[in-house]
Amino acid sequence: MLYFDNAATTRVQPEVLNSFMKVNQTFFYNPNSPHVKGSEAQRLLEEARAQIRQSLHLNEETIIFTSGATESNNMALKGAAYQKKPFGKTIITSVLEHPSVLEVMRQLETEGFKLKFVNVTDKGQIDLTHFESLLNSDVILVTCMQVNNIMGQIQPIREMSQLLSAYPKVHFHVDAVQALGKQPIVMQDIDSIAISGHKFNGLKGQGLLILKNAHALTPIIQGGGQEFGLRSGTVNLPSDVALAKAIRLAVSHQHVLIKGLKGVNMAIRNQLQQYPGIVVNSPEDASPHILNISFPGVRGEVLVNAFSKHDVMVSTTSACSSKHAKLNEVLSAMNIDSSNILGSIRLSFDRHTSMDDVNRFFEVLDIVYKEVEELLRK
Ligand code: PMP
Repeated sequence: MLYFDNAATTRVQPEVLNSFMKVNQTFFYNPNSPHVKGSEAQRLLEEARAQIRQSLHLNEETIIFTSGATESNNMALKGAAYQKKPFGKTIITSVLEHPSVLEVMRQLETEGFKLKFVNVTDKGQIDLTHFESLLNSDVILVTCMQVNNIMGQIQPIREMSQLLSAYPKVHFHVDAVQALGKQPIVMQDIDSIAISGHKFNGLKGQGLLILKNAHALTPIIQGGGQEFGLRSGTVNLPSDVALAKAIRLAVSHQHVLIKGLKGVNMAIRNQLQQYPGIVVNSPEDASPHILNISFPGVRGEVLVNAFSKHDVMVSTTSACSSKHAKLNEVLSAMNIDSSNILGSIRLSFDRHTSMDDVNRFFEVLDIVYKEVEELLRK
């Protein structure tokens, strides 16, 4: 089986799974317990936080363990909006965001917040001139992803944070889910960052919210006050220790990984030139772990099934939204025409993707191309 759907989820690294199992067996204690085993568990939890701080070159930021980026995004966006409500009502976002951001935006809108969508360029990036024009004293929250999960394009986070420096009231949230391990995570002038472990060979159900200031959010989960009062509930120590390991592995392998991913990405781009009709949608400077391509005239679902039949797993748009029969908004925002959108698939790679996999993919591509060639609009 060839797995080219790593933007949806990745295979866990054995070392990460081992730490999860080991801590489950030997340190199943509750860090909140008053006895000596509780204190040891608490120490281990703080060691995991310290290791993450070191891996990501963080200073005084608060690290909150969550169940994944959906929770981190909800916590940051609702928490910041509620906290800042007395100072303004405007929130800036874009159609590029993941549903775990966009659906929160829609919810906040029903609660009286004013949403503004920033324009997107043809390369799928935030239009910085338009972004600047939307800024005013009513803006309290801006949210943007670092790397897009459908096309892989990289957003101008640094430029946005520089523009925001004139608006110190604004909470700037970054969804860095598709960036960790492939792009540097830089906290400078950012108020919060969301991360999900299973996107970089960690476990499912583990994530982080990194916060510049622990008091910046109104808690949306009430309870025993764990995780600085922001994420009540018994701490999942085995998961937290395993996540620290997954982050360390991802960050320490970043250079090698990027080089490998670029090789895979370029090889596929080059090979595709031999197939008239196939279009590459991802910009050349996108993150190399994502390659979005179109077979105009053919449906994405048909392609996914055709590749599946030959044991190659690819995705239509994102696994989260591919079941909804709506033209993908990310591709629409990039002015990609509708037959290209309908015929688009996403190939995504990780540290396990080898050149042997790429060669096997070429064999299957050749077969699938012949199967759908009649439908292709060349
Ligand atoms: N943001 C982005 C950009 C994503 O790709 C995903 C996962 N598809 C999420 C947020 C949500 O992460 P999770 O499903 O782990 O909560």
